[in-house]
Amino acid sequence: MAGTEPRVATKTADAFAPRFRQHGLPLTVQRRAILEALLRREDHPTAEQIFADVKTRIPEVSRTTVYRVLETLVELGLARKASHLGAAARFDPNTGHHHHLVCLRCDRVVDLEDARLDQLSLPDTRRTGFAISDYSVHFLGLCPQCRREQAEAPTPREPARRKRRQ
Ligand SMILES: [Zn+2]
Ligand SMILES: [Zn+2]
Repeated sequence: MAGTEPRVATKTADAFAPRFRQHGLPLTVQRRAILEALLRREDHPTAEQIFADVKTRIPEVSRTTVYRVLETLVELGLARKASHLGAAARFDPNTGHHHHLVCLRCDRVVDLEDARLDQLSLPDTRRTGFAISDYSVHFLGLCPQCRREQAEAPTPREPARRKRRQ
């Protein structure tokens, strides 16, 4: 599902090298491969998916390294974590403020930019003592592919269960 929407796909691993150096981290072969694997994907991969990608290029890479480097990317502000409840953390090379469409069936996560959503007034959390630093909206639903698949082979369980409850 490439290229339907304009997005910041112009980032290259080289553009990130100075940022790494600033933090005293050389852009090693492994770090570069992990970064490139993340930049290549637009589907908000899990650490596990990045690990699988990198392993095809660097068979000796360890899972721990991949997880650690991804966390480093987040700490350096080069990637964001896009998580939703009950699912594995997803890594997002798009660090600009944006929102997500989350497919409930296949877990696909798609970027969504909407100026109106950037201007939501934050809830008053004084009573909870929680300090909000950022937000992102997740809209849950079905992606086009899942909608198609469901139309072709509807799962009978859902409607049946609902009927019994009425
Ligand atoms: Zn889906
Ligand atoms: Zn995103």
